[in-house]
Amino acid sequence: MKILKVKASGEYDILIGEGILDGIADAATPVIRGGKAAVVTDSNVAPIYLESVLDSLKRKGVESFSHVIEAGESSKDLKHLGALLNAFAEDGLTRADVVIALGGGVTGDLAGFAASCYLRGVRYIQIPTTLLAMVDSSVGGKTAIDLDYGKNLAGAFYQPSLVLCDHSTLSTLSDEVFTDGCAEVIKYGIIADAELFDRLKEPIKPQIEDVIYDCVRIKRDVVEEDEKDTGLRQILNFGHTIGHAVEKLSSYTISHGKAVAIGSAMISRAAAKRGICTPEYAEEITELLSSYGLPTFTSYDPGMLFRAAVADKKRTGEYINLILPVEKGRCIIKRTPFSELEAMIREGME
Ligand code: MG
Repeated sequence: MKILKVKASGEYDILIGEGILDGIADAATPVIRGGKAAVVTDSNVAPIYLESVLDSLKRKGVESFSHVIEAGESSKDLKHLGALLNAFAEDGLTRADVVIALGGGVTGDLAGFAASCYLRGVRYIQIPTTLLAMVDSSVGGKTAIDLDYGKNLAGAFYQPSLVLCDHSTLSTLSDEVFTDGCAEVIKYGIIADAELFDRLKEPIKPQIEDVIYDCVRIKRDVVEEDEKDTGLRQILNFGHTIGHAVEKLSSYTISHGKAVAIGSAMISRAAAKRGICTPEYAEEITELLSSYGLPTFTSYDPGMLFRAAVADKKRTGEYINLILPVEKGRCIIKRTPFSELEAMIREGME
């Protein structure tokens, strides 16, 4: 088992290992002070892992409650947030107790946000069960729900008290869901780690623990530097400006990972056309994404992509911060006028 320590507004450990889910209560004991835990999970994960988590808690004398949400993005809304908060109150959860988010990004975002506002904040533990959640959403303390006007429009920066990544849970993922997480893994190589980038050319599964560790370490370092996303943390958005546009235009039928892969390849080709990186490197990025079965082109109209991209909540004024690859393991953040972004989207299509 590997341990990473995070020092953000809260200090916490990230545990990465195989089969560590069964001992969840041992790892969580220092966090659970009041003796009660509310476990939030979804309808896909509950039949596989909920019982072993509840058993482990019971053996330690922790009184636990479980709340199972319907799997899928539609559970990340105000209605489910309200229901969860009322359920915590019904459980009699106090500030000394803990919320456990067991599942993928939707579960972590919803349960984390509920924990951030219930009684003005109770501690929570992230137990991600997808690759995407392990390397991205479970670390860094961004929690949110979707509003009618868009994704992640209400939320809080609220750090977990513990993150437990048991990568044996990845074996129960479909290939498609696993591959989705690989797009974010490749992103870490592009933005911060040339050696990771090259290692990803070898089969990922035999080295999965090291790969997760490297990704989480990079995210940890970025979050420690810029927890509230005002500067450096933006590099984690590599591939996401165009990626979000693709997701939106598809009404979210194209998954996050696939959309990010398309966005990563497109922005890399545009960067190469402008001499920011070499055409060979842009090609290398595209080839690596393709080797994981991820898409690198879209047939959406560039004008539509542009309009969807600039409707994004993170934009400021008539400019957008683009993350551009310079060389393996290094990116720059470039403040880019809207007009230039539109041109770059066109360049990225070619
Ligand atoms: Mg992402």
